[in-house]
Amino acid sequence: MESQKKFRSVLLFGPPGVGKGTQGAILGSVPGFFHLSVGDVFRSIDIGSDDGQEVYRYSSQGQLVPDELTVKIWKKALHAYEALTRYKPREDILILDGIPRNVAQTELVKDHLEILQVINLQCSDEEEMIHRMRRRAIRENRADDANEDVIRNRFKVFREKSSAVLECYPSEIISTVNANGSPAEVLKRILDAVVPVQNKHFRENV
Ligand code: ADP
Repeated sequence: MESQKKFRSVLLFGPPGVGKGTQGAILGSVPGFFHLSVGDVFRSIDIGSDDGQEVYRYSSQGQLVPDELTVKIWKKALHAYEALTRYKPREDILILDGIPRNVAQTELVKDHLEILQVINLQCSDEEEMIHRMRRRAIRENRADDANEDVIRNRFKVFREKSSAVLECYPSEIISTVNANGSPAEVLKRILDAVVPVQNKHFRENV
C-alpha cells in the first residue's frame, strides 16, 4: 500500500446483527463498490497460526481483538485484494465493515482512509438483532453467534467502545438509516444515501 494514498470509503456502522455484513455483501457485488468485512477476514485466518489463535481468543468471547493486530490483519487483506485487482481504489468505493470499531482504531486507520460517508444502521429492536444472529449461527456455524452470553457481551462492547466512533466524524457525513425490515427495503435506503456520494466522488465512472 502506498503511504500517502487514501482509500475513498463508506463506513457501514451499527451494532452486531444490524445487517452490515448482509448489506455490505450485496453492495460489494455492484460494480464500483468493494466490500471488506474485518469479521470475515478474521474468520478466514488459519486458526492454527499465531494470529489466528490470538484472534479466536478474543472474538470467541465477544471481545475486540487488540487494535494493532486488527489493523495489521485488515491492511494485509486490503493490500492482497488490491494486488489481485479485485479492489481497484480509483474506481471502487471501499465499503468498510467492522473497522474502525473503537476510537483508537479511527486514529490508526485515518491516514489510509478518506471516509466520504458513514451509514449509521439503526434497528430499534435488540431482540430482532439477537434473533438474526441466532439464525446466522446455524447458517454460518459462527461460534460467537451461538452463545447468548457472548452475544450480550458484544452489545455491551458496542455500547461501551464502538458507539463513540460516530463522534469522530462530522455530522454532515453521517446518514442514519433504518435497518428494520427486509434486506431489500434496507438496501433501498442505503442506496438512496450512498449513490449520490458515489456520483459526487467517482464522477468519471458514472
Ligand atoms: P458483528 O458485526 O456481528 O459483531 P463481525 O463479523 O463484524 O460481527 O465481528 C466478529 C468479531 O470479530 C467481533 O465480535 C470481534 O471479536 C472481532 N472484530 C471484528 N472487527 C473488529 C475490530 N475492528 N477490532 C477488534 N475486533 C474486531
